[in-house]
Amino acid sequence: MKWTSVTDLREKYLSFFESKGHLRLPSFSLVPEGDKSLLLINAGMAPLKKYFTGEAEPPRHRVTTCQKCMRMLDIDSVGITARHGTFFEMLGNFSFGDYYKKEAIPWAWEFLTDVLGMPAELLYPSVYEEDDEAFDIWNKTIGIPAERITRLGKADNFWEHGSGPCGPCSEIYFDRGEKYGCGKPDCRPGCDCDRFMEIWNNVFTQFNSDGKGNYAELAKKNIDTGMGLERLACVMQGVDNMFEIDSIRKILDHVVALSGKEYGKEHKYDVSTRVITDHIRGTVFLISDGVSPSNEGRGYVLRRLMRRAIAHGKLLGIDKPFLTELAGTVIAENGAGYPELVEKESFIKKVISVEEERFNSTIDAGLSKLSSIIADVKAKGGDVVPGEDAFRLYDTFGFPLDMTVDGAKDAGLSVDADRFRELMKEQKERARAARGNISGWSAASMTALEGIGKTEFTGYGEYETEATVSALVTDDESVSSVTEGACTVILDRSPFYGEMGGQVGDCGVIESKDCRLVVNDTKIKDGIILHLCTVESGILKTGDKVTARIDGDLRDAIKRNHSSCHLLQAALRRVLGDHVGQAGSYVDGDRVRFDFTHFAAMTPEEIEKTEALVNGAILSGLPVTTTECSQDEAKKMGAMALFGEKYGDVVRVVKMGDFSAELCGGTHVDNTARVGLFRIVSESSVAAGVRRIEGVTGFGVLALMKEREDLIKESAAALKVNNPADIPGRAVSLLHELSETRREAESLSAKLAGGKADGLLGSAVPVGAVKLITADLGGEKMDAVRSLGDTLRDKDPKIVAVFAIHSDGKLNFTAVCGADAVAAGAHAGNLLRAVSAITGGRGGGRPDSAASGGQDISKIGEALAAAEGILKGMLK
Ligand code: ATP
Ligand code: MG
Repeated sequence: MKWTSVTDLREKYLSFFESKGHLRLPSFSLVPEGDKSLLLINAGMAPLKKYFTGEAEPPRHRVTTCQKCMRMLDIDSVGITARHGTFFEMLGNFSFGDYYKKEAIPWAWEFLTDVLGMPAELLYPSVYEEDDEAFDIWNKTIGIPAERITRLGKADNFWEHGSGPCGPCSEIYFDRGEKYGCGKPDCRPGCDCDRFMEIWNNVFTQFNSDGKGNYAELAKKNIDTGMGLERLACVMQGVDNMFEIDSIRKILDHVVALSGKEYGKEHKYDVSTRVITDHIRGTVFLISDGVSPSNEGRGYVLRRLMRRAIAHGKLLGIDKPFLTELAGTVIAENGAGYPELVEKESFIKKVISVEEERFNSTIDAGLSKLSSIIADVKAKGGDVVPGEDAFRLYDTFGFPLDMTVDGAKDAGLSVDADRFRELMKEQKERARAARGNISGWSAASMTALEGIGKTEFTGYGEYETEATVSALVTDDESVSSVTEGACTVILDRSPFYGEMGGQVGDCGVIESKDCRLVVNDTKIKDGIILHLCTVESGILKTGDKVTARIDGDLRDAIKRNHSSCHLLQAALRRVLGDHVGQAGSYVDGDRVRFDFTHFAAMTPEEIEKTEALVNGAILSGLPVTTTECSQDEAKKMGAMALFGEKYGDVVRVVKMGDFSAELCGGTHVDNTARVGLFRIVSESSVAAGVRRIEGVTGFGVLALMKEREDLIKESAAALKVNNPADIPGRAVSLLHELSETRREAESLSAKLAGGKADGLLGSAVPVGAVKLITADLGGEKMDAVRSLGDTLRDKDPKIVAVFAIHSDGKLNFTAVCGADAVAAGAHAGNLLRAVSAITGGRGGGRPDSAASGGQDISKIGEALAAAEGILKGMLK
């Protein structure tokens, strides 16, 4: 058996089966296509299911693949057993009603023993206990002695998933030797230990099960095999576990380099090292297949892998972000087999770094919270972490449940996962309820609407509509007439747009010959348009004929902003890439706000380019067309669905030339030229990985220009220049002048302080070997007094100075002693304590410098005069 690299093993396998008439297909994405029953592809056969069930015709009846797989069910074994990863590659050969056991088993044998040269005596097949046919092929055709063929029961060797195609399987185990064994007398193929390692499983889909225990022979029998590439390499390369094979070892070594924890020394560190090695592989491949971190579904799997890796990094003592760097190694090691990794390298790293940064900022706090929770549970003699605590860790610190479970398990505790899930569900329901609410519109009001039909919306085409009042609601009650105050009016038809899809509701008036109501806002609920009104005059009754007229100027402004929102999204995708997706939008008469997924702040060039693209589309005068069609037709038109909206079977596609196509129920200009002009006002971050652009159009641009012009005018006036073009020059020269003046002022005040110090030194009184200055400096600033003290000390080391300053009735003393004075026994702190005590104050400080507060300002003179005597008493 010759050491063979992973790359060669993969190639040898695929070309071997090509030589047996198989069509080689590239790995499918980890994200299943058109299969809602599966979160992630977990086996080579999973993306081919439709060929097995006969739903679709395969490109050939023999296919071979090397398929990327994810098995989150194995996550607890990762790092502990030699053979489990969450991410791995599965080699497989498949027959769709073509060859069967007679071919599959001998080919598997030929590949392992002839092509790879595995010693026959180390290979142990297993068969399903009732499958004599397979047993005979192994025994008679291949010649394996009967005692080396293990018959296993349904749990191990019968592949079945509810009803449908199913059948027995035959596994091939490799004996890695006693040193990997558990030592139990009944250790044999099928044992959970790592001695007999299952490398290949051949499934014979022979029956169709009705799910009730009845199995009918299939007319067309299939073959579905799966061999873990990493496990095969583990055997062929004679290494301890799948993380030590050539394609993975460099990643593992990189983890070791980051942690500094030598591999093979301490079991728990080795486990963490392997877990990180595994999880970063899964992370990179998931992101390259378009999964992004979130709290649900596949996004949650990804988040869980990353956060778990980070937590294990903590266990290894890695205290800086490290996943992004590791991802580089994963990409380098797998780029040849999976070029998409290299193509998407920068994107993959961005996604990881954003998530890592986000989690790193809370993980330490979360981990210490977790250990205090654990300590708490233990102190109370319990052994279960309450679901509430697990939920708080999730909600506040972003800890996936399994991280809490992991941590608790290490401390011998379990977690109340049921309660956790219950709380999750409640939180989701609360969020949903909050979204469904219409502000200012209570549940009671909603019941007042029962039995009222949907309102016909006429506002795509007209601003004014003749209508009939179908209902009136005030104070949560249905009424037959209104004469004053606030009320909600429901009409049979209306041009008013009810707030939806990020577009605000219209304003306007509703009038009849008897009354006039102002519509302040419009909402929509279950197809009923709600006009939130104030009665201005007269009386309005149900059944009245009215004219409903929206504020046309406002609507025009809203339209311009909404249309620019579509142009903006299309432009962003062109400038930043296809990963840009809408994450929310808001459009009113003043502006457009657009949130989108992107992982970095936009550069000024990108912003400029985006703005130019939008304006280009505006100036080209693209016709805006709307089409109602089926969802499928909309997809064919390339329409992008707006985030978070539910669509019925019939959707509305808004197209702007070939520049943009989106599903949208909002109101738009009929030609992009009517948007006028578009300007981006700001670009900022709203959440990790989500950016926000705010922009204005039409009159909004004029207003913005006016505002900026005014600013320029005011600046010119303040700077006293006539020509705005002179503003920058004037500002620069003023700043220069200012700093010159400041420098001059500083040198002048230094000179002044020096003069003052000299004057004071002249007034110094000799006291023993030192000289004392006392002075009442009145309202002088504390800073100035301090630097004066410093100057005095520098000029004469024998000096002792005590100053009083006071303003607004507050009294302070400061004292300094030069180095010689201190040596002679003077102590500024003690001196000041005694001096300020005379005024009723207190304080002190170091021997060379001190400050204190005083009380009685009238006693300043007395206190300063006492300094000499106090000082005398101190001197040696
Ligand atoms: P085990 O019992 O060892 O977990 P399995 O019965 O789950 O294996 P199958 O579902 O038969 O394995 O998958 C087919 C092949 O895929 C296995 O023979 C093995 O080589 C490989 N495989 C399965 N699970 C993993 C995993 N978590 N990591 C790496 N390879 C795996
Ligand atoms: Mg398994």
